[in-house]
Amino acid sequence: MNTLPSRADALRHLTERLRAAGVESPALDARVLLMYAADLSATDIYAWPDKTLPPDAAQKLAELGERRAAREPLARILGEREFWGLPFMLAPATLVPRPDTEILLETALTETARLVAERPGAVFRFADLGTGSGCIAVAFMHELCKISREYDAYGIAVDLSHDAASMARRNAIRNGVDDRLGFITGSWSEALADESLDLILSNPPYIESAAIATLDAEVRDHDPRLALDGGCDGLAPYRAIYADARRLLRPGGAVVVEYGIALSGASQAETIAGIALANGLSPGRPIPDLAGVERVIVATLS
Ligand code: GLN
Repeated sequence: MNTLPSRADALRHLTERLRAAGVESPALDARVLLMYAADLSATDIYAWPDKTLPPDAAQKLAELGERRAAREPLARILGEREFWGLPFMLAPATLVPRPDTEILLETALTETARLVAERPGAVFRFADLGTGSGCIAVAFMHELCKISREYDAYGIAVDLSHDAASMARRNAIRNGVDDRLGFITGSWSEALADESLDLILSNPPYIESAAIATLDAEVRDHDPRLALDGGCDGLAPYRAIYADARRLLRPGGAVVVEYGIALSGASQAETIAGIALANGLSPGRPIPDLAGVERVIVATLS
């Protein structure tokens, strides 16, 4: 029988395995997998490196390590990803939340300050279209509740995938905001009544269909295509969202969307602003994310 490895040996061995497989951050991923497989803290590993791993933990680590070496994303293996400092459980139907999307949250909060100042004391309502894991709706509501638990804010989160909408609901429960959020399955805002919304938020799929094949394998092979593919020019979702915005927003309300970069290298902002204008909204200037990449645009109904 093989002797069981120490914590330090297991860490070293898995780091080498992941490095050889071309994983970008092998040491970090190996440590996270060891913590997860053996239920250890980082302190347990580094303060007591010579303790041996129990056989079941060693076995589990070997299996998870092989999945990571086969380039399954760490978040998929753990079934969870942090966004805006909150934990989000993942399903095959949900995109892994990206840190890039936090700028959408920041922008939504800036807009909220303006909208609330316009109508002090009024109920605040928003929708999150294509909610996926629910990270936007849940994190946004979490912030609104921090302002005040008495704050009269309600949100509705929609996804075409029933599995995504139900995972989003579970994430709302996990983060304690399910009493203020509704979850429905449907196509964009089709199922919504005239809600007099203050805000519509969305991180829709915006990759051009032809560009899907060129994406990083960890994204292409593991994120759901429904959450990535924005149609021929990547902009089909924006047409659907803006076309219905006038019906749903109150005057002064706004649509805040994330977008990306076309296969040609051009920003999608100009075309998206054109679609907003054609639907009677006033688009603002593109807002860059923390890496300086244009990422978010606000379009207001006057
Ligand atoms: N930002 C994601 C990516 O680059 C795509 C998500 C989306 O289409 N909304 O993989």
